[in-house]
Amino acid sequence: MKAVVVHAPRDLRIDEVECPAVGPGEVMVRIRAGGICGSDLHYYLHGGFGTVRVQEPMILGHEMAGEVREIGAGVTNLRVGERVVVNPSRACGQCHFCQEGKANHCLDMRFYGSAMRMPHVQGGFREFLVCPAVQAVPVPADLPLEQAVFAEPLSVCLHAARQAGALHGRRVLITGSGPIGALCVLVARHAGAREIVVTDLADAPLAAAKRVGADLALNVATDPEALVPFAADKGCFDVAFEASGAGSALAGALQAVRPGGTIVQVGIASGEATIPLNVLVAKEITLRGTFRFHEEFAWAVFLLATRAVDVMALLTEVVPLADAVRAFDLAADRSRSMKVQLAL
Ligand code: ZN
Repeated sequence: MKAVVVHAPRDLRIDEVECPAVGPGEVMVRIRAGGICGSDLHYYLHGGFGTVRVQEPMILGHEMAGEVREIGAGVTNLRVGERVVVNPSRACGQCHFCQEGKANHCLDMRFYGSAMRMPHVQGGFREFLVCPAVQAVPVPADLPLEQAVFAEPLSVCLHAARQAGALHGRRVLITGSGPIGALCVLVARHAGAREIVVTDLADAPLAAAKRVGADLALNVATDPEALVPFAADKGCFDVAFEASGAGSALAGALQAVRPGGTIVQVGIASGEATIPLNVLVAKEITLRGTFRFHEEFAWAVFLLATRAVDVMALLTEVVPLADAVRAFDLAADRSRSMKVQLAL
């Protein structure tokens, strides 16, 4: 079968790889749709991020959906032909974090398309994927797979929103308007936020944030002072989601969030950041991290299946597998794309 394999920075190939056999408790999924995510782009452009580096050829991809092709012995919850979206996280189920229900902190996590461990966990941009049945989550037959495949990034944002507490009636700031920032807009709107202001350095992602429900989109590259009015009188936002990973954006959020407010750091930084610590102290701001998701995956599938959130305004293009390199180059160009998907 064919798979999208990163060999080195800017060296992405469509390789022939072996198709694994289906074991007990497993299913084979014919992957049809794959969403290109920021981490896939880091592997493609830079060979990794931080200390995580590609050390051997790795199939990319952790956002994928398709249909069940074959089921292994003992699998009773899925049928051949059923459409599924694949949950990319496989926690060990045995470590003490798993036993506490905090599987996103698993000490032995296998996450598709991740170079965090050696040998790397091969990803899902391939024609056939064999996975434990529990990771193949059924979706309704009438839900297009291009929508279903948003379940993974939407889960990330649902988990992030949980870190912030109730959003109903809140004034929300979102810094960074890539796919995750824009999905945070959808989640905050769904959760009843009163006002949602988004910032970014580029106009195209800001326009996308407006399309999915942001009240105001501010370009802080062309207008570095755009957030200043919101920082008056110790700030006005109840909650901020920092989705850019830039220290300067976090510093701006600290100014614009009101005393007692919460900032959820969603974006991952390429290095360390300097922040105005005394602002955090004097305004009694809660600064929280958020990492991946757990039970939010099923919740995301539910929200997509019931059309409670509409992600289609964020889909830029579905690109055939043969043009994978063009798809990655398009996904890397923020002036032209939000979410790019592969048709596998
Ligand atoms: Zn575990």
